[in-house]
Amino acid sequence: MSIELERPLPRPTPTSRPFWDGLQEGRVRLQRCDDCGAWVFYPRNRCHRCLSAALTWHDVSGAATLYTFTIARQPTSPHFAGDVPQYLAVVELAEGVRLTSTLVDVDESRIRVGMALAPVFEPVDDDLTMLRFRPA
Ligand SMILES: [Zn+2]
Repeated sequence: MSIELERPLPRPTPTSRPFWDGLQEGRVRLQRCDDCGAWVFYPRNRCHRCLSAALTWHDVSGAATLYTFTIARQPTSPHFAGDVPQYLAVVELAEGVRLTSTLVDVDESRIRVGMALAPVFEPVDDDLTMLRFRPA
């Protein structure tokens, strides 16, 4: 017997909403500190470097490199039982921030730390799009 579980999904907050809205529009958006210039991810209310609250959203290309990865051959939770192997990745955007994602449209034997990646916008439903990455 197999049980279809509802997947855990991100819940946009007032602070992170611009990031998620950007993905809905096929754009990657990051916060940047108006005072010290630091790029900021995850979305937050104060700069991690100088504590300024002057953070502004900017569209970025989404160009990235693979910082590290692991291949999950066993589901990481029952929700992902149908998704193995799953290519779990920490991706470094050109702006220097890192985020956790998964690789898609990739030949497993070609996955390498440092490989160039491009964003993939994966709609989940009418209200949510996930950011994945594929080889550039
Ligand atoms: Zn700052």
